[in-house]
Amino acid sequence: MVRSKLQYCKACDLYGLGPKCKECGEMMVSSAPLKYSPEDPQGKRRREREQAGSEDWVDSLPSPSDGGRNDE
Ligand SMILES: [Zn+2]
Repeated sequence: MVRSKLQYCKACDLYGLGPKCKECGEMMVSSAPLKYSPEDPQGKRRREREQAGSEDWVDSLPSPSDGGRNDE
């Protein structure tokens, strides 16, 4: 599988594949896809796999009583 080489030009708000923007010639930055999209089409499957909501899942969550307090 080929990894995405998608590049993004902030100036033009355009995506492209080359190292430079074909519109303005500026260097483009690599646009790594977000690990989890807000829409997250895989979210339901992932939660099912992790059995979100089960007791084991609750136990695996970081607890605020485990030293996550502010110094106040
Ligand atoms: Zn551009």
